[in-house]
Parts: sequence; C-alpha cells; structure tokens
Amino acid sequence: MRIGVLAVQGDFAAHGRVLKQLGVSWCEVRHPEQLREISGLILPGGESTTMLKFLLEEGFWEPLQELAHRGGAFLGTCAGAILLAREVTNPRQPSLGLMDISVERNAYGRQINSFVDRVLSPVFGPPPLEMVYIRAPIITRVGPGVEVLAEHGGYPVLVQQGRCLAATFHPELTDDRRIHTRFLQLAEAASAR
Ligand code: GLN
Repeated sequence: MRIGVLAVQGDFAAHGRVLKQLGVSWCEVRHPEQLREISGLILPGGESTTMLKFLLEEGFWEPLQELAHRGGAFLGTCAGAILLAREVTNPRQPSLGLMDISVERNAYGRQINSFVDRVLSPVFGPPPLEMVYIRAPIITRVGPGVEVLAEHGGYPVLVQQGRCLAATFHPELTDDRRIHTRFLQLAEAASAR
C-alpha cells in the first residue's frame, strides 16, 4: 500500500512526518500520473483556492475522480476538506464533490482566526481529540450518507463518507494519530481490492 500527499502548497510536510512516523510507504504527489500508484490521498491544509487552481491547470480533475471511483481513500484537512466537498460558499468555488457536504470557508470570522480545543468524539472515545483550527471552514450541511465522527460548537468537524474523511481542523499538527490511522485502514481496504 502506498499513500500520496498532495504537495502543491500548505502543510503537506506535516502529513508526511506523520506517515513517516507511522511507518507507511508514501510519496509527495505533484503529477496526476502518480495517482495511479496510490490507494489513498491526503489533501492537506493551506489555501484551497491555490490548490484548486493547480489541480485544474495540471489536469488532476479526472485522475482524482478515477481514484475515487476505484475506491481510493481520501483524507482532507481544512483546505483539503473544502476541496472534497460537494458545495463551497463564501465565496463559491468549484470542488471535487467526493463528499456530500457543504462547507463555508473562513467561517469563524476575523476575530477568531485560529484556536485550539479538545472535544470527545463518540466514535473514537477518550481521550478527547485535540483540534487545531486555522482560518477553518464550517460544515453547514451533511448528506444522508455522511457519518459525523466529531462535532464542535454544534457543527460537524470530522466526517466520513465511504472511504473519504474530512476534518475542518488539523490532526497533522497534534500528536494524536487516530484520524490518520483510520484513514490508513480505509486505504488498506482500498489496496486489498
Ligand atoms: N482558509 C483556508 C481556505 O479557505 C483554509 C485554511 C486551512 O487549511 N487551514 O482555503
């Protein structure tokens, strides 16, 4: 099994460090052809508009849809979650639509650009998940096929649909590896097919 980390912009290096620590075979993805060799892809945090522009210009759109089609796993954190969504607002922008969620960008406002909180996930159980939010989006709608793994302030912040996981915060910036481990299990299932 091999994991790819989209390495255009943002905190892809932090995800790479986590994968290295977990002893996983992984690569930085900068060309669409590389998607053929992986069974899971991480879309990091950063600036979704910049990543979107790159994905469109470099011909990533179809190969990404194909990876999803053949059951590949995805983990999108913050900007990555925005890219995975079906609908993006504030302002509207195209997205991959691999998860039936709507997200509003930069939804916490200027006063609270960034914050850290701890929330107990009913799915993961104790200890609480440490959540680092940086100019984070809010998930404003989840479709019927989407499971909410954690909430914060009444909004879903960690969701799963099939082999896709999206977090509006940054698990790669904490020492808690449970979210990456769950993603790797999904990618394992994908590579076993
Ligand atoms: N504000 C960024 C965006 O809208 C996301 C921020 C992040 O990934 N930490 O793309």
